[in-house]
Amino acid sequence: MHRAFLAFAQTLLIEPRCPICDGPWQEPQAPTSPCRHCRDALQLPPEGIKGLEPLHWCALGPYEGRLRQLLLKVRQPTKQKALSVLVQMLSDSLSLPSTAVLVPIPSWKRQRTNPLPQRIANGLDRPTADLLQRPRVGLSQHHLNRSQRQTNLIGAFRASPHNPATALTSVWLVDDILTTGATALAARQALEEAGHGVAGLICLGRTPARQHRR
Ligand SMILES: [Zn+2]
Repeated sequence: MHRAFLAFAQTLLIEPRCPICDGPWQEPQAPTSPCRHCRDALQLPPEGIKGLEPLHWCALGPYEGRLRQLLLKVRQPTKQKALSVLVQMLSDSLSLPSTAVLVPIPSWKRQRTNPLPQRIANGLDRPTADLLQRPRVGLSQHHLNRSQRQTNLIGAFRASPHNPATALTSVWLVDDILTTGATALAARQALEEAGHGVAGLICLGRTPARQHRR
């Protein structure tokens, strides 16, 4: 009886579960990707989505539906497995040059800092550099329209100073979500003024165009 209980407890401990929905795992390979149910619900293209406006960007998928719900959850410390799986999928969808260096966009909120850009950059398993500081506390971008966002962000970033010997030529900014791109453009401007070359931005979700043309 005791042995049977131990065996049962062991199956509970080692039984693999989906890293996204925590449901039972019934597939032959190890659970390093979403279960079939989550894959069907998320409908993420394996090659990701890409675009050139307002700067060159690569994302895992559109910021809507199930991916949006999931990205709102993965800031919680208990959802780190789900975040790791999403970042791995993002990593698999990217084709970056070997010279690429990732620069996470820091958040300005003092109390509720968004940990995602740094965690995404770390999880992409490529060189990273913390070149950006965000010394000025701006207004929340959330309620501002596109031109107000750009004005709000002037001077919002400071980049590590220009040094021709260490200036990077292939910086990829990293953020969790790309909406109007005002934040990314302000970050790019600060980096370029400091002598670095910015190739584009990597993010998990790209807000569909109809939702950010205000
Ligand atoms: Zn699942």
